[in-house]
Amino acid sequence: MARTALFLFPSPIQMPAPLPSSRRGYGLRHKRLRKSWAIKVARGGVRCARCGQLISPHEPWDLGHDDLDRTKYNGPEHRRCNRAVVTHLKEALIPEPTRHSREW
Ligand SMILES: [Zn+2]
Repeated sequence: MARTALFLFPSPIQMPAPLPSSRRGYGLRHKRLRKSWAIKVARGGVRCARCGQLISPHEPWDLGHDDLDRTKYNGPEHRRCNRAVVTHLKEALIPEPTRHSREW
């Protein structure tokens, strides 16, 4: 469970190599679903599956997965909401006894 969580949100930037054939179907399905959602998001009125707020047509968004079942999609999520969960999961997985808040 904990080990797979690192791979929950693959980023296109982090995947320069072609996907193995076992994962291509997933990618195609994701692409198709994302495309169909993109039309709805572009029209406006689609709510983020995480925070419930409207997703602006001009705002970056991700097609969010179910946290527990990666074969399911929650629907569009604000990118910031989706990535915030990734950060949260990674923080939860990496043992970090001394965590300092950093000023940016
Ligand atoms: Zn959101």
